[in-house]
Amino acid sequence: MTFTPIALVTGASRGLGKNTALHLARRGVDVILTYRSGADEAAAVVKEIEALGRRAVALQLDVSVSATFDGFVAEVTQALARVWQRDRFDYLVNNAGIGIHASFAETTEAQFDTLMAIQLKGPFFLTQKLLPLVDDGGRIVNISTGLARFALPGYAAYASMKGGIEVLTRYLAKELGPRGISVNVVAPGAIETDFGGGVVRDNAQMNAMVASQTALGRVGLPDDIGGAISMLLQPDNRWITGQRIEVSGGMFI
Ligand code: NAP
Repeated sequence: MTFTPIALVTGASRGLGKNTALHLARRGVDVILTYRSGADEAAAVVKEIEALGRRAVALQLDVSVSATFDGFVAEVTQALARVWQRDRFDYLVNNAGIGIHASFAETTEAQFDTLMAIQLKGPFFLTQKLLPLVDDGGRIVNISTGLARFALPGYAAYASMKGGIEVLTRYLAKELGPRGISVNVVAPGAIETDFGGGVVRDNAQMNAMVASQTALGRVGLPDDIGGAISMLLQPDNRWITGQRIEVSGGMFI
C-alpha cells in the first residue's frame, strides 16, 4: 500500500489556502482544511478534493481565538482517527490571514491587536498545540508576504507581523530539526484573491502598478502560490529548512 501524506491547511475555504489544498490533492496528498466563516465554501473544496480521488475534512477554526485551540486539536485528532486511522498528520500550512490597510500614523491599537492575533500569535500557539500531532519528518510552511522585504505605505502593522513569522520560522526550523521536521516560510507577492477587499484583482490601477514592478510582468495568481507551496512539500524538497522563499514573480527586485 502506498503512503498518503495528510496536510492541514488553515484558511482553505478561499484564496491561496484553497488553491494550495487543491494542488496538494492533485499531488496525492489528503487534506484537513479549515475555514472561519465560509462553511459552504469549505464543503465545496472538500467535494473538489474528493473528486480528485483524495480524502478531505473541513473544520471550523478562528486562528485569533487561541482559547479554542485545545478543542480544535481534539477535533483534528478525532478526524485523523475516523478518516485515516492515524494519530498524526504530515504537513502544516499556516495560511489563514487577513490584511488591514492603514498608514503607520493612522493604525489603531485595535487594528494592531487584530493583526497580531491572526497573523502572529495564532500561528505561534496553533503550531505549538499541534506539534504532538505533526509526524516526525513532517513539514511546516508559514505564509509571509513580499511586504516584509520591501515597504509600501499602508502596511506597517501587517508587514511587521509577517516579519515576525519569518523570524519564528527560523526558530521552529532550529528547534524542530531534531524531529526531522522542516519549516519554511513562503512570501507571496501581490496575488489576485479576496485579500484586502480584492484590491489587487479588482483595482485596475493597483493591478497595473504591481505588474509594472514585477519582473515577470503581471500580478500573481493563486495557482502561482498553491503550486509553489505544494512543490515545497514534495519529498524531493526534504533538505530545505529555515528558508524564506519569495514567490512574487520578481516583485520590486
Ligand atoms: P483570502 O482570499 O481573503 O482568504 C483568507 C482565508 O483565511 C479564508 O479561507 C478565510 O476563511 C481565512 N481566515 C481569515 N481570517 C481568519 C481567522 N481569523 N481564522 C481563521 N481563518 C481565517 O486571503 P488570501 O489572499 O488567500 O491570503 C492567505 C494568506 O496569504 C494570508 O496569510 C495573507 O496574509 C497571505 N498573503 C496574501 C497575499 C495576496 O496578495 N493575496 C500576498 C501575500 C501574502 P473564511 O472565508 O471562512 O472566513
